[in-house]
Amino acid sequence: MKNLPLLSRKTTNPPGLPDLRDKVETTPDWLVAIHPALRLVMNKRARRVALRLDPDRRIVRLVAPPRISQKTLQNFALSHHGWVAEKLSALPVPVPYHDRTQLPLCGRDITLHINLDKTLKRTNISLKNNDIFISTYMDDVTGRLNRFFKRYALEHFTPLAQDKATRISRAITGLQVKDTKTRWGSCGHDGRICLSWRLIFAPPAAMDYVIAHEVAHLVHMDHSPYFWALCADLSDDFSTGKKWMKHHGHSLLAYGCSDDFSTRAA
Ligand SMILES: [Zn+2]
Repeated sequence: MKNLPLLSRKTTNPPGLPDLRDKVETTPDWLVAIHPALRLVMNKRARRVALRLDPDRRIVRLVAPPRISQKTLQNFALSHHGWVAEKLSALPVPVPYHDRTQLPLCGRDITLHINLDKTLKRTNISLKNNDIFISTYMDDVTGRLNRFFKRYALEHFTPLAQDKATRISRAITGLQVKDTKTRWGSCGHDGRICLSWRLIFAPPAAMDYVIAHEVAHLVHMDHSPYFWALCADLSDDFSTGKKWMKHHGHSLLAYGCSDDFSTRAA
């Protein structure tokens, strides 16, 4: 957007807009009235008004440069209402951890059983067959359960990755699981592999493909035809796995989203 009206040369903002000294995120009523998932961020370094989707928090930030009128921002947000709604509705539906929530865990459907007991001193989580039993004093077990899944992921991924590395006579110097947002895996020059723990919620072929992909990087640190040939060779079902990650990979971020995000984006 060019030629935005300059209201004042002073560094203070017009009434209704936050102080510019910090890059704070605010929720002004006039903006939330346009869409409840909108947040305002005034940024001294921003050169134009822009909308930025935060898929993790299921919000859209209206980033604005200094000295811009509320009316201009209001009009901008109004004229992009369709874009905001479309982007948010394209996000995967959150799957918060509740009693009886079903989750696809490494290819099998498992059910959560949450027993809330305020007299308990600690939280206990155990996986038995296709059920996960959680006895807890906590109202929200998201963080605790994610830690459990992270450990589970590491135990599950390690032998799979080691086996593939052995097949090509390479060594994995370290395997880590993380809560990555944009990359499902990475492989360093030093032989360290990092994987998103959320891959445990992907179909086995997709999970296997990502592991094969990172292990193949132990030989080829590029995406050359040699790399892809090796990756396909190391995968159980290369094309199914690759396609699933491309089209549905983002849905893995929906697991363990707290209800808070879904209600705010509604
Ligand atoms: Zn790669």
